[in-house]
Amino acid sequence: MSALSERVKQDLRKIEELAKSLDGRIKIKSTEGSPINKIVLEIKYPTAPSKAYPDKVQDTTEVKIELLSRYPFQEPTATIITPIYHPNVYTSGKICFGTKWLPTQGLDLLTKRIIQIITFDETILNEKSPANSDALRWYRGAISKNPNAFPTDKLVVRETKKTTMSWKNVEGGGEERTLVSCPKCNASLRVPVGKSGNVFCPKCNEKFFIRT
Ligand SMILES: [Zn+2]
Repeated sequence: MSALSERVKQDLRKIEELAKSLDGRIKIKSTEGSPINKIVLEIKYPTAPSKAYPDKVQDTTEVKIELLSRYPFQEPTATIITPIYHPNVYTSGKICFGTKWLPTQGLDLLTKRIIQIITFDETILNEKSPANSDALRWYRGAISKNPNAFPTDKLVVRETKKTTMSWKNVEGGGEERTLVSCPKCNASLRVPVGKSGNVFCPKCNEKFFIRT
């Protein structure tokens, strides 16, 4: 498998993970190319389809992400296929990210940014060089008339907590402790009661999960 197709596979996996943490509010609708160079995402976050927002709301947005020939060194492009009226989106639907693309960043981060854009997250809204200045004028008026209508939603990512305890942070301290033994070498380890997580055996370095 080529480095590019391996990278794209990783990107798709990261998007799937993001989808899970967002309770399925985003979905990979289709992919094209070999290796894959077109990805259509379905995003279930409300946005403004026209000046009629908030009377009219677009509930589902479709975005086409295109990976150019020099991806990941070349920035991917993203085009919104469904109606949207937004200062940072050209009338063609092409999104103006206004940030520098880094090859090390994954398409999950790009997807998060797309969600922030379509929901009018004001922390990333770029009013200095709008892609659609009519939409910017409309947005300024609309937010002063209907301040509660913006952002149109909020991106809340649930971070999955991975607790890793090392021998150091389970030794010492005044908490109640109990003994567990390493499943590999049988060495015993004193750990606080009421904890769960991965620990490393100080003797054989085996990593194992405990719940005390
Ligand atoms: Zn061990």
